[in-house]
Amino acid sequence: MTKAYRGRFAPSPTGRLHAGSLLAALGSWLDARAHEGAWVVRVEDIDPFRDIPGAGEAIVETLKAFGLESDEPVLWQHDRMDEYRKAIRKLVDEGKAFPCACSRRDVIAWHVIHGGDPAVYPGTCRNGTHGRTAHSVRFRVDREPVSFTDRRLGFLEQNLEEVLGDFVIQRGDGLPAYQLAVVLDDGFQGITDVIRGEDLFDNTPRQIALQRGLGLPTPRYLHLPLVLNDRGEKLSKQGGATPVDAGRPLEELGCAWARLGFPALGADSVGAFFREALLLWKERWDGAGA
Ligand code: GLU
Repeated sequence: MTKAYRGRFAPSPTGRLHAGSLLAALGSWLDARAHEGAWVVRVEDIDPFRDIPGAGEAIVETLKAFGLESDEPVLWQHDRMDEYRKAIRKLVDEGKAFPCACSRRDVIAWHVIHGGDPAVYPGTCRNGTHGRTAHSVRFRVDREPVSFTDRRLGFLEQNLEEVLGDFVIQRGDGLPAYQLAVVLDDGFQGITDVIRGEDLFDNTPRQIALQRGLGLPTPRYLHLPLVLNDRGEKLSKQGGATPVDAGRPLEELGCAWARLGFPALGADSVGAFFREALLLWKERWDGAGA
């Protein structure tokens, strides 16, 4: 018997809900309902430099206005800080992560001298900081490629050592990195299926590597198309994307539905919209890792 489905929507409260985040919310909700599973909301509010006070509450309220209500109390990442720190400590104790004294500038300077991709950490502090003060903590990657099959985008394989190097799980300012918090919470909440925007597709291999390091299961993944603005850029709350209008749920849901590539529905209420959308959603994903 397969494990009971648990899905989630995990917005960062860097602004109000916009068309792109509504699409991820709707897709994850439909997939959970199509599998008769649970759908939970998690507010990823651990970055005081980016988060906007009150935005998390506003997102939860807007979701409610759209009929998208968390089946369990909303999880706020700020309540989980101790758990993130504990996990980071454990990874360091086990030798799976290490303190690092390098700034971004140090990494770039290394590549100016030695060549190669400046995005890749060269492993400077893998065996100690040699007397320099550590600022961040990095997760140790290995040569083994990490792969997974996305339900929509198909197979992706990454050699983390080549494309990224050991990556940051505790930032220079002491905050846990998104990668660490998201993996730990997906595990904590027993998430079986992650449905989110395509911008995170290539983050997935490093999240899978972290899951393995932490002894957590790997969920299935479905990355949805992004909503782009007139300039072809991904909508972002920080970039000032127009918030969705909570007073016009049917119209907004209809737009999100069209952006997911489905034909318009004739529904005249939100309830009818969900009923019709669910049937088509099930049809589309049947057999595609459904
Ligand atoms: N909090 C992330 C965001 O709003 C999404 C995290 C995820 O779905 O994995 O971009």
